[in-house]
Amino acid sequence: SEALTRAESLIRTIPDYPEPGVQFRDITPLLVDARALRTVIHAMIAPFEGSFDVVAGVEARGFLLAGAVAMEAGAGLVPIRKAGKLPLPAASVTYSLEYGTATIEAHDDIAVGTRVLLVDDVLATGGTLVAAHELVETLGGVVVGTAVLMELTALGGRDVVGDVHTVFTG
Ligand code: 5GP
Repeated sequence: SEALTRAESLIRTIPDYPEPGVQFRDITPLLVDARALRTVIHAMIAPFEGSFDVVAGVEARGFLLAGAVAMEAGAGLVPIRKAGKLPLPAASVTYSLEYGTATIEAHDDIAVGTRVLLVDDVLATGGTLVAAHELVETLGGVVVGTAVLMELTALGGRDVVGDVHTVFTG
């Protein structure tokens, strides 16, 4: 749609951030635009309307989208955080990055069988969302879907994450 095309045009590409050779997709110009923000939040929810109880958002930019998705869909919110930020981490998953590893954690505040929509801003290699999926399942949640604002197709994340709904590709 025209509204989605307009929203997509607000994603900015920053060359050589955070390191040389990386083309970083910066979503802040989209977030600051009220119409674009509403448009993309609706697009992220659309395939999953009524199918989830809580949204699990990945720190840090995933939080911004997850909060809006949760409010708009009438769902609750579970923050998935980088290691060391939560007072009562109940589950933790460590995964590989290009250099080294990262660990994500969550509290166990969901009942077994809770239907969870995973949300993040960008799908790159897919490592983060695979780990987030495992984390939610460790807590007893059922991942009913994954919604991402932008997929960087060249990095092949879809091959490891599996079924993922992405609003924009680049
Ligand atoms: P992956 O684990 O799929 O390689 O990387 C995805 C994670 O890194 C996401 O949590 C996302 O926020 C962040 N990320 C990787 N590349 C980009 C990018 O170009 N732009 C933004 N905004 N985030 C990125």
